[in-house]
Amino acid sequence: MKLYVIGIGPGDEKYLTPEAKAALDESGAVAGYPLYLDLIRPLIEGKRIFASPMRQEVERCRAALDSAAGGTVTALVCSGDSGVYGMAGLVCELAPEYPAVEVAAIPGITAALSGAALLGAPLTNDFAVVSLSDLLTPWETIVKRLEGAGAGDFVICLYNPASLKRRDYLAKACDILLRRRKPETICGAVRNAGRLAEQTRVMTLAELRTYEADMFTTIFVGNSATELIAGKMVQPRGYRH
Ligand code: SAH
Repeated sequence: MKLYVIGIGPGDEKYLTPEAKAALDESGAVAGYPLYLDLIRPLIEGKRIFASPMRQEVERCRAALDSAAGGTVTALVCSGDSGVYGMAGLVCELAPEYPAVEVAAIPGITAALSGAALLGAPLTNDFAVVSLSDLLTPWETIVKRLEGAGAGDFVICLYNPASLKRRDYLAKACDILLRRRKPETICGAVRNAGRLAEQTRVMTLAELRTYEADMFTTIFVGNSATELIAGKMVQPRGYRH
């Protein structure tokens, strides 16, 4: 039977693609982190629900694969896109153990894109995406990637900029980037994009160093060309030249 791995976008169900909505409608069971299930609650009434907390990703994927193997079309939901720091990879790794299950990933709007739209147009040229979470990636590797993105003058989106245990990671990342970028470089923060408590802020790289990000924040670090235009963070596209 089918297992849909669905990115639901940043929050509100208006960001869900029609394809994702159709896959949810078709599913008899839905698995996910409780917060994401709450965001799409009206769409999953009456379905069998497998809610599991953070850090229980393997169990959640197996519950979804077992459900599909048992003959129920099942949806596993992630925020944003399921293939961007989401569970699509884990599902593909485990799926060979479940030959009866056909896995289909349904794309969603990832936080870099929903956040960029709120800030202005910060990503109109090359950009890099780095997660500051060292749960699955060693910190030394994260540092190497930040140094590379900094050296390449990429605009940088930082996912997972902080959590309760990692309060100083954003400051550490800023220190690495400040070796390559001016303190007045334009940066942005988007918190809870597409959700009730949505907040955006544009600031300098020096200010970002002391910004208190949380686990629902995505950070945008501008490059040497990023400008502040009428309050918006903009990467000029270069057509003028
Ligand atoms: N699969 C998700 C990313 C999961 S990693 C996606 O594609 O968007 C979790 C990180 O994503 C958070 O720490 C935050 O940096 C970012 N994020 C997810 N949802 C967000 C939202 N609504 N607003 C701002 N950032 C968000």
